Parts: sequence; structure tokens; C-alpha cells
Amino acid sequence: MKCIFCLEDKPGTVEHVFPRAIGGNLKINRLCKSCNSKLGAKADPAISDNFLVRIRRSELNLAGNSGKSPGKYELIEGVARLASNPNIRVRVSLDRRLNKIDLQVISEPNSTISEDGIVNLSYQIDPRDSSKIPQIIARERKRIGLMPLNEDDLLEAARNTQLIESNIENPRLIYEISHDFTYVRHGLLKIAYELAFIWLGEEYIYDDLAAHIRNALLSEDSNATSRLPIHFIEDPCGQPLDLWSDNRNSHFAFSSFHKDGICIVVRIFDLHAAAIWVSNSTERYLRHFDSNKVEQFIWVDPLTRSHRVTSLQEEMRIVTEKLVRKANFEKGL
Ligand SMILES: [Zn+2]
Repeated sequence: MKCIFCLEDKPGTVEHVFPRAIGGNLKINRLCKSCNSKLGAKADPAISDNFLVRIRRSELNLAGNSGKSPGKYELIEGVARLASNPNIRVRVSLDRRLNKIDLQVISEPNSTISEDGIVNLSYQIDPRDSSKIPQIIARERKRIGLMPLNEDDLLEAARNTQLIESNIENPRLIYEISHDFTYVRHGLLKIAYELAFIWLGEEYIYDDLAAHIRNALLSEDSNATSRLPIHFIEDPCGQPLDLWSDNRNSHFAFSSFHKDGICIVVRIFDLHAAAIWVSNSTERYLRHFDSNKVEQFIWVDPLTRSHRVTSLQEEMRIVTEKLVRKANFEKGL
């Protein structure tokens, strides 16, 4: 077998085109063990570990390679800010024994020096941390360059602290989430490359653009895929994918043939979608197909871990027919 990534003759291993962690079950066995594990470590997690995708996997209970789906609370563990006072940061953790969310205020001392030279130190503190007040004072004195106090003076300073208690019922939290398209791009490119091989056949391995895509995917440099022709579709439920906007929990992909090249569109849930140029030479593939089955379509249902393959033309016919029936039904026709 010739591996479709390194092009070496090696035994094949099972590869999921859409990562298994997002419910993909379309498999090929044309990847060698080494390429498969390289992509499994980088391209697949780019999709399945994406923050938005993990939330959906948690909702749909989609297990990854570990056999577990992301925990409902795991996603919100970390540091957040209080919506009622964004200056206050809290550590959010799950008390696994009680299966309850636990919030702990993070102390962030703030010193001000008045005109007569008195240093005022204010900070928020979690009631459970009240024994740490002397330490906080000592640390802050050091930070602003004051002499260290002896233990008795520190305890005295702690006793002189004026406490203002506040209790917030059901606090709302603000999270900062970073989202990097570089990685999502890897994941989508891998899916498009493998679909191009399945749909265009053995010849695709020798396509110029195919060589660029696989080299970029195998490269250690995360930016290697940035020069490839991929266009993110801003709204995965809007134009031109709005025909499928009803079903937000599925993935799909289709190929589209143009005079000067072939494009594959991939949508992952209703979260990420891109149009990826996979070949610049339409002509060389056209002769393999009968004319109305040139453009392919695949629908992946993560909940049943099943997929259906049809032509894009047939899929458009089914979807538009459904839309017309729905419209007629609403009008009472
Ligand atoms: Zn290989």
C-alpha cells in the first residue's frame, strides 16, 4: 500500500476522516502508522479539542479516544471574572465529591499611599482564606519595598484589618476564551485532503496541490498551512450553506467542480466551515465520472455514528424538495 501522506509503501492503518471524537465513522486504511499518529496528534485535536467543539461534544456526549466525552463542568474550570465586578477574579473548580461548582476569590492586593505617607492595602479574600491575611500583608509589604514586620506585628496588622463582607448569590461569570484558527485550519484541511483522495481517486496523490496540502499538514511548522487556499465561511449556517441550517449537530462536506479547479466545502457542526481548494486541474478528473455524479456529498451524523454518501446534485434535490414541502405545508397547500 502507498500511504497517501508520505507516499511510501507501508502497511495501512485505520484512519477516521472526520475525527472519531466528533462522531466520525468514515474510515480509510491508506495511511501508514507514522503518518496516522502524526495527524492524530495534531490535525484531529485541532477540531475535536477546539473549545466550541468540546462544548458541543459534552452536550451530545461524544467520547474521544480516551473513551470519555468532555465533562459538563470541565469546560468551565479555570479562572473567570465576576460579572458584577470584573476586577475580581475567581478560580472555578468542580468539587468532584459533591459534584458541585466551587468558586474561590483570588486575592489581588492593591496598595495606595496617602499624602501623609500612610499605606492603605485593600484586597478581596475568600472567607476560607482568612488565615492567610498575615501572609498577604507580608507579601504586599515586600512587593512595595517596605521593611518586613515581625510575627507579632504582622498578626496585629491582620487584626486591624477592616473586613467588609459581601455575599453574591448565583454569581454570573465572565470568561475569556482564546480561539486560534490556525489549528482549526489544520483539522479542516486534513478532512478535505482525505475526501479529495476518496472522491477523486488514486490519481489525486499526484496532483500538485495535493502535494502542497499534505506537506503542509505533515510539517512541524503550524504556519505551513497558512499559504494554502482555504476560505473560512463566517456563518456556517448562512450563505451558501443555509440549505442545511436546520441540522446543527451534524457534519457534512461536498465537492464542487469549477473550470479552473476543485473545491471541497467542509462543515463541522454549525461551528466551523471552510471552502478548501484541493486541485487546480479539473480536467484530469472529469473523465472518471458520469456527468451528474461529478460532485459528491457526505452527511455525517455523530449521534448515530453513521454517514450517508450521495451526489451533491441529489442532495440539493432532496433538501430543496423538503423546503418546498415545508413552505407549502405552512401555507396550507
Ligand atoms: Zn505515511
